[in-house]
Amino acid sequence: MSFLEIKDVISGYGKIPILHEASLEIQEGEMVAIIGSNGAGKTTLMHTIAGFLPLMNGSISFQGVRIDNKSASEIARMGLGYVPQRKNVFAEMSVLENLQMGAYTLRNPKDKINEMLDLFPRLKERIGQKAGTLSGGERQMLALASALIVNPKLLLLDEPITGLAPQIIKGLIEMIVQICNSGTTVVWVVEENPKEVLKHADRVYLMDSGLIKMERTGKEFLEKENLEELFLGH
Ligand code: ATP
Repeated sequence: MSFLEIKDVISGYGKIPILHEASLEIQEGEMVAIIGSNGAGKTTLMHTIAGFLPLMNGSISFQGVRIDNKSASEIARMGLGYVPQRKNVFAEMSVLENLQMGAYTLRNPKDKINEMLDLFPRLKERIGQKAGTLSGGERQMLALASALIVNPKLLLLDEPITGLAPQIIKGLIEMIVQICNSGTTVVWVVEENPKEVLKHADRVYLMDSGLIKMERTGKEFLEKENLEELFLGH
């Protein structure tokens, strides 16, 4: 039994299917990268796993339990953290209020918030600032901290480093690798800096037109595939 098992999933928007029988299996503790060109269906896959899109076919199991008939909040309570690509913070709320929102189900939210502020000192410096006024990198840190606050077992990240400055990217990649090394399984949609990310990935899935086209270890992928060709146009 895999930690996360996605089998023959068809899903999309309204009646239009975007994923066409996508299947993938993630093991506990892995870091898995999902790559593919614009419109390949990567975000749709993330939305579907997190419970925001109904399935037209197939099944999804998380820790051996079917989740494809559960709501997004039920799935989150089972230990799935999701950081979407956009709108991943409450722009009108301060950094602290965002963390408090993330922590509202916890018995000791203060301890956990302080833990996150130690992990992301940059957020500590900006504790009272509205999230909408943070830089791109700071916003991603806040989104990550808000998801991590409940100790998710599985973290889905949709392009967390896209569009950020190189120095910030380096720090965020290190942070995400550290999160994975401390036991959280990470599934990561990657568009930019594939080399930097793939060298840390246990496995890579390549998506194209709503299909899983290829599965490789991160190392195999870096050695054998022509990344420039695959990422052409980005
Ligand atoms: P990108 O890297 O550009 O974000 P992606 O691989 O994440 O691409 P998706 O965002 O999953 O791709 O989009 C897959 C397809 O689904 C695209 O053709 C897109 O136009 C379509 N799509 C996405 N969101 C919606 C929506 N809300 N309603 C209808 N179609 C949508």
